[in-house]
Amino acid sequence: MSALRSTFASILVIVMAALLASCETPPQGSIGRSSSGLNEYGNRPGPRGFSTVIVDAGHGGKDSGASSRRTGLTEKTLTLDMAKRLRSELGGFRVVMMRDSDTFVDLDDRVRIANRYPDGILVSLHFNESPPSIAGPETYWWRVDSYTLAKRVQSHISAVADQHNSRGLVRRRLRLTRNPMIPCILIECGYISNSREGKAISNSSYRNKLASAIASAIREQAAYGDGNLGPLPPFIKAPPSRHGDSRGS
Ligand SMILES: [Zn+2]
Repeated sequence: MSALRSTFASILVIVMAALLASCETPPQGSIGRSSSGLNEYGNRPGPRGFSTVIVDAGHGGKDSGASSRRTGLTEKTLTLDMAKRLRSELGGFRVVMMRDSDTFVDLDDRVRIANRYPDGILVSLHFNESPPSIAGPETYWWRVDSYTLAKRVQSHISAVADQHNSRGLVRRRLRLTRNPMIPCILIECGYISNSREGKAISNSSYRNKLASAIASAIREQAAYGDGNLGPLPPFIKAPPSRHGDSRGS
């Protein structure tokens, strides 16, 4: 009897140990963190109180970007002009210029440069072209931590824009909206292919208004973070954007 009881007790101990082992939490799937501890997919709230703004003048050098036959303007010239105007509107911030002359900087190099400033935000400036009827500024974002910055920029820039675009705020995985390890947005400041908007863009005082609106949005984001802009969007896990899987704009 006692031998039976002892055998039973031994079996019970083994069964309980097995049960306990099965209750252990399995290792969690790693989301991937950089050496700086930031979530590589930007699945975090938007920043507040940042002091560094990386201003990226789109295109440059051998890459002219969009162009307008009517005005003779090229995107690379306009983006550099806008970058300089934005820099002068951002008093109080440390402004890092991705380029300050007509030079070509590869998109992946722009990502690497942005990552040197883990406490900064990246604002990439572009102008657009398409069939002539399309007009109005658009702001592209991908990461959760970039959403309210994009929303604020689109709101401020629309308030001063000559024309409006029905899609406005666009979530799109681009190399400069997905790959940097910091909040990053890409602003298409308007369509140089639209005759009315193209004419407005060729006017330096209009470009000043756009730059001032973008600066106001950046200051607002630094002051309030995600505050008062509703719930954050869902996190979407996606691989880094590579050359060829999206437009390079
Ligand atoms: Zn562009």
